[in-house]
Amino acid sequence: MKLITIGSSFSLVASALAIDVRAGCRGTEVIARDIAVIGGGATGTYAAINLKDQGKSVVVVEQRGSLGGHTSTYHDPATGTPINYGVQLHHDDQIARDFYSRLNVTASQASFPDTRIPLYIDFTDGSPVLNYSIPPLSDDYIQALHKYPYLENGIELPDPVPEELLLTWPEYMERFNLTGDAFATYSMPAVPGDLTKYLALYVFNYLNSGMLEEEREGKIIMNADGDLAELYRNALAELGSDVLLNSVVLHGQRGSKPADGVKLCVLTPKGRKQIVAKQLVFAAPAELENLEPLSPDEREKNIMSEFKGGFYFTGIVTNFGLPTNYSYTNRGQNTESHIASVPGVAMFNPTNVEGTYYYWYNSLSDMTRGQVEADTRNTIKRLQRTVAGADVSAEPKFLEYKSHSPLHRTASADVIRKGIYRDVYSLQGYRNTWYTGSLLVVGSSQLWNLTSQLLPRIIAASEQ
Ligand SMILES: Cc1cc2nc3c(=O)[nH]c(=O)nc-3n(C[C@H](O)[C@H](O)[C@H](O)COP(=O)(O)OP(=O)(O)OC[C@H]3O[C@@H](n4cnc5c(N)ncnc54)[C@H](O)[C@@H]3O)c2cc1C
Repeated sequence: MKLITIGSSFSLVASALAIDVRAGCRGTEVIARDIAVIGGGATGTYAAINLKDQGKSVVVVEQRGSLGGHTSTYHDPATGTPINYGVQLHHDDQIARDFYSRLNVTASQASFPDTRIPLYIDFTDGSPVLNYSIPPLSDDYIQALHKYPYLENGIELPDPVPEELLLTWPEYMERFNLTGDAFATYSMPAVPGDLTKYLALYVFNYLNSGMLEEEREGKIIMNADGDLAELYRNALAELGSDVLLNSVVLHGQRGSKPADGVKLCVLTPKGRKQIVAKQLVFAAPAELENLEPLSPDEREKNIMSEFKGGFYFTGIVTNFGLPTNYSYTNRGQNTESHIASVPGVAMFNPTNVEGTYYYWYNSLSDMTRGQVEADTRNTIKRLQRTVAGADVSAEPKFLEYKSHSPLHRTASADVIRKGIYRDVYSLQGYRNTWYTGSLLVVGSSQLWNLTSQLLPRIIAASEQ
């Protein structure tokens, strides 16, 4: 009899419980569907809605208490004002607009979030980084980007993989005489870990033509009242009991032929249930830990164990004590391209609630909420002592917190050279399992595009 301790990814449901994963789901309610989806973030939700629209029955297993994944919206209790402290915006393209309209959400043109006057400060000592601002992406960067069209909507690398893409970004910049602009831009969105170690391949994959359109042409949408979670609340209302929230797969069986289908034993707040489906969409982070209950075979283990996600946390703080006409961005005084030191707060951005800020925190290892908030508080107190006009007596109050780990799964240069991405693509459909989610692209609308391209294959497999 095999016992596992439910680890971090399951902790919201059954933290530290020792569960007998083989203790059967036999005799429990059977949920029979065409397609089971694990993970109800941006991609899992998109897949479920669109599969349903194409006549397929679905069930979504989501470990948290809501859909939306990295989308986190807090409502100020006094005014009801929404504050997004995870995903901020969506790329303005047809797929995003169609998804909004499908879920009865009014899309409106948006700009980058209000950052007021940016102050660049080295958060390690509170000193201002003078004569510095984040430059727009240069023409040199754009020319370089156009050399790698296969990184735009996935990571479909040529064989052999161009060695230059396996250089770290600082090495690439030096080799091709690029300035630090792209690096500075790259460090602004939620990118976890030590940015100086990121391979050029990941920079181009992230800072792609879509990002350029956002930066240069303002091609950005969000919903009219700024509450990004509305998309996912509406999706939940639409999918109803086809979503199992606060639920995790305890164990599963996946057949080798389409006719064999998939069986999952799921722990839900209402007890165990069995899911019997024809195909499985895996839209949770594709890490070994998450795949473990599905008994991955050697081939799957060898591929997925090569990917590691980073550690990233976000939250909301009020009673901030710093002048509210600024945003505060962490930049290193003496680091490569002024990249912020890690671990630490990446930035504090103002919200539509006066004196309330949201922050992002980047780390090299996992941290508890207490640790993140203690360090964030120390950072605020340090800034209160160095920023003119601050109220040093203000005691920060933390309102919200979320862990986004594991974020952005990357692989080493060596395994990429040996063809890990070719292997990832070859896994599609293997053992009736389809992978979507941010293994191959990062932005939501890119993920929706990638998922929509996969859906006909999933549907065809479910009809065999
Ligand atoms: C702070 C932050 C800000 C961002 N801002 C933007 C932005 O403004 N615009 C943009 O386009 N992109 C943004 N992104 C990128 C974002 O990652 C993607 O847009 C998108 O949300 C990723 O979707 P996903 O479905 O792959 O993953 P997720 O949204 O993470 O969804 C995965 C889901 O799987 C669930 N899950 C995990 N493990 C299990 C399990 N074992 N069983 C069941 N369920 C499980 C998770 O709870 C989650 O709901 C941001 C990311 C972060 C972290």
